[in-house]
Amino acid sequence: MKRVVLKVGSHVLTEDGDIAHDRLSALVDLIAALHKDNKEVILVSSGAVAAGYTQIRLNRSDVADKQALAAIGQPYLLKIYQTQFAHYGILSAQILLSADDFDSRKRTEHARTAVERLLSHKVVPIVNENDVVATEELVFGDNDRLSAHVAHYFDADILVILSDIDAYYDKDPHRYSDAKIRKIVTELTHEELEDECSAHGEFATGGIVTKLQAANFLMKRGGQMFLSSGFDLSDAYSFLIDGVHRGGTLFATEARH
Ligand code: ADP
Repeated sequence: MKRVVLKVGSHVLTEDGDIAHDRLSALVDLIAALHKDNKEVILVSSGAVAAGYTQIRLNRSDVADKQALAAIGQPYLLKIYQTQFAHYGILSAQILLSADDFDSRKRTEHARTAVERLLSHKVVPIVNENDVVATEELVFGDNDRLSAHVAHYFDADILVILSDIDAYYDKDPHRYSDAKIRKIVTELTHEELEDECSAHGEFATGGIVTKLQAANFLMKRGGQMFLSSGFDLSDAYSFLIDGVHRGGTLFATEARH
């Protein structure tokens, strides 16, 4: 495993309407450890709207206000990342993408060239959806699907989703106490991919279904995805650095693992 896309959700990055600084710096520690281990990392980070909201209390349920919050919050969030990465002497860069960019071969190619160049200089590209220009028909809407595209088109070996949940279970563990972890998933059924979206909380969209769709997108193209906790990164460390699958779920077709 050489190239890793890490996706972190807004649940992990925010707490009580503020940026969760401890968790953000723990994430930066993980990325620095991956760099030390000679891995290339692309980070897909949510949290722009939440970061904007810490600065100005606009209405998060109004589309234009939300776009304004994202525009305010995005550079604010990047500044926090840059400061944290600087402790390790690591440079980071911002890449804003929209679904259109993956619709055009030429634009995907341009983005890929830029990402390759950044990675060759050991810079961490930080990707987010370009909320301000995203058109309604062509919007990823959640960074799970965006990160699957990033992993596939930018030739990553694996997508790692760091979530508020530590794995994929046979049913929603927040509702069923007897839910069991599925450690390895080799295929996903129609029902699993179309289940009701179960996102909760005002900053979250997507829920587990968009994660399964991201996994399915990659598995169909010979890729793989790992889902583990963004609150406690020990399973991600074990899997990515020690090569030991302790907790978390690996989605990969049988040929891969
Ligand atoms: P994030 O903010 O990290 O993107 P979400 O909160 O949107 O994550 O989605 C994860 C949530 O999906 C979990 O907290 C859980 O309540 C819910 N969920 C529903 N079904 C399952 C399942 N089978 N396995 C794991 N989580 C599930």
